[in-house]
Amino acid sequence: MTLSVADPTVRTTCPYCGVGCGVLATPDGSGGVAIAGDTEHPANFGRLCSKGSALGETVSLENRLLHPHVDGARVSWDAALGTVADKLRAVAETHGPDAIAFYLSGQLLTEDYYVANKLAKGFIGTPHVDTNSRLCMSSAVAAHRRAFGSDTVPGCYEDLDEADLIVMVGSNTAWCHPILFRRMADAKARRGTKFVVIDPRRTQTGQEADLFLGIRPGSDVALFSGLLVHLADNGFRDRAFVDSHTAGLDAALDRARLIAPNLAAVAAATGVPDSDIAAFYDLFAGTRRVVTAFSMGVNQSAQGTDKGNSIINCHLITGRIGETGMGPFSLTGQPNAMGGREVGGLANMLAAHMHFAPEEVDRVRRFWGAPRIITGEGMKAVALFEAVSRGRIKALWVMGTNPLVSMPRADLIRQGLEGLDLYVVSEVMADSDTVRGLGKTTVLLPALAWGEKDGTVTNSERRISRQRRFLAAPGEARADWAVLSEVGRRLGHEKAFAFPSAAAVFREHAGLSAYENNGTRDFDLGALTDISDAAYDINLPVQWPIPKRSGPRGAPQGKARLFGDGRFYTFDRRARFVAVQPPGLAQAVSEDFPFVLNTGRVRDHWHTMTRTGKSQRLSAHRAVPFIEVHPDDAARLGLTEGGIARLRTEHGEAELEVMVTDSVVPGSLFMPMHWGSAYASKARVGALVRGVPDPVSGQPELKATPAALEPVAYR
Ligand code: SF4
Repeated sequence: MTLSVADPTVRTTCPYCGVGCGVLATPDGSGGVAIAGDTEHPANFGRLCSKGSALGETVSLENRLLHPHVDGARVSWDAALGTVADKLRAVAETHGPDAIAFYLSGQLLTEDYYVANKLAKGFIGTPHVDTNSRLCMSSAVAAHRRAFGSDTVPGCYEDLDEADLIVMVGSNTAWCHPILFRRMADAKARRGTKFVVIDPRRTQTGQEADLFLGIRPGSDVALFSGLLVHLADNGFRDRAFVDSHTAGLDAALDRARLIAPNLAAVAAATGVPDSDIAAFYDLFAGTRRVVTAFSMGVNQSAQGTDKGNSIINCHLITGRIGETGMGPFSLTGQPNAMGGREVGGLANMLAAHMHFAPEEVDRVRRFWGAPRIITGEGMKAVALFEAVSRGRIKALWVMGTNPLVSMPRADLIRQGLEGLDLYVVSEVMADSDTVRGLGKTTVLLPALAWGEKDGTVTNSERRISRQRRFLAAPGEARADWAVLSEVGRRLGHEKAFAFPSAAAVFREHAGLSAYENNGTRDFDLGALTDISDAAYDINLPVQWPIPKRSGPRGAPQGKARLFGDGRFYTFDRRARFVAVQPPGLAQAVSEDFPFVLNTGRVRDHWHTMTRTGKSQRLSAHRAVPFIEVHPDDAARLGLTEGGIARLRTEHGEAELEVMVTDSVVPGSLFMPMHWGSAYASKARVGALVRGVPDPVSGQPELKATPAALEPVAYR
């Protein structure tokens, strides 16, 4: 939205993390832009972190993909899209539609995501649509569904302002969700909010904790099972809430007693002194306003869903959910991970938070007019790329993500791409590991970037914000939703893909979500079904659900919190306790691979650095890929600060700069996830990890890979 006729400043949303901060962008007329925080945006109230404030340094056209290419040769859009449509048709006819797969991204706008999902699941007829959000928060999605009957974040950011205790689990909030951490720090200064940080690594967040629990990797379930037992046995059970609004406590408690019968057992499992565990349990038990915020350390695990449910169990037994300043809170990594969940961009979802119950499939079939609609789940990311490697998938369309850096077993995937009949990459960058993948026919489609495209994103607190265009489209780049629509039309579905604008896509998305307001659905944008183009353009950040009769005189009004009335989205409206499995790592260390390798983000880079790598200021924070190693291990191996070490796993190796630090415990290592081969040829995390998937969510383990480390003699 332009602020006034004369003012060129545009209100938009930061394209990095799931906090979803509002940004004021003022273009200078020659391709540059001045950036400021939007004081009116309820996520950040004017603040921006280092990445957000450096956005103006990242809008150059350096290394941009500006024109369509087929097999390395520049072609017209007509030729490129003709190739895509012809090859998709041929693959579907020869091998069946389920030989086609789409791999999407939490960087896409909701409108892009919606059209991709509709094209694949409704009209091509393939269920194999997954997203890099599978690597980000799919365990939280699965935990929500098991506990609440829906993928619903119960609370909002204001709860962080109003909590008396914030427990951060597997989250370096200070670096990865910096503006939320500043809100937490304000709460600490204003009302004395206590921080408990639970993490195998003592990060910046851990350094600011009132109580830090440096648990062993994978032992979260033991810690929270012990907490459940403590709460049950010491008078902290909210009997009225549990009896009226939940089911399954007895089974969950029986299991928790087996896993964590007493403090000594929890101490043995976690490696944390029992006095610290007791202090945490007492703090949690004695504080009503407690938020437990969890992120990648919980989700990116072969036991991520159980970890999430072991946390939620502790909020359910105390009835601490849905009211101001309390509740479990999943911090999403990407700017539009939530939007992807809304449209059904995960392989185990259909659309608009619907899955594959016959009545849901029928509803979407009729709404889309899609007789070929799929009726069951597709392959999740790890399985999907394994199918590419085995030759089961013949056509793959990757949009807005860089799986050859980020996906587990990335080198195996690279080999698999060689067998594809069609490999399409919709991309902003002209050169990335994924763009350099092979395939019998490789089609590169130039996409619009942040600042050039229009649409919506949804942040961690269910708040939909607009991303707005303030720069001209460079070269021949086009919006992804428009490209997908054109392919849909070329495949013969003119009416279903006749979208004239992003606003039209959003209206259809909202319409699909809109039920009569009977209160049995969480995701409902009914009030936005008929939103005009003009209203869409000025649409203010609003939290779903926004049912048709949500606001006075028709004004759309979202909901800050859910479940305060004790009514959940299960068939009997009761939340579920979950009996979780005993903790354990999917891959054990061995004589050959004696270390546990953890991976994650650094403060000033985002994902595979295609944007943040353009900023010298951001790159200066951590200039090269590194490995964190404990001083005892460094001394034993003869490693010194600033030297080079070779990291090996059963899948690959990398040479990394040594950082000696006691932020990791002996036997543990940490490596950042950002660098691809454009920066350091052997430092891709994806090439090093196996990524054993969680059996419930399919999210791969990225935090605990057996590894070996040795000095590199020639340096
Ligand atoms: Fe952007 Fe996240 Fe920083 Fe906010 S906290 S400015 S959304 S990177």
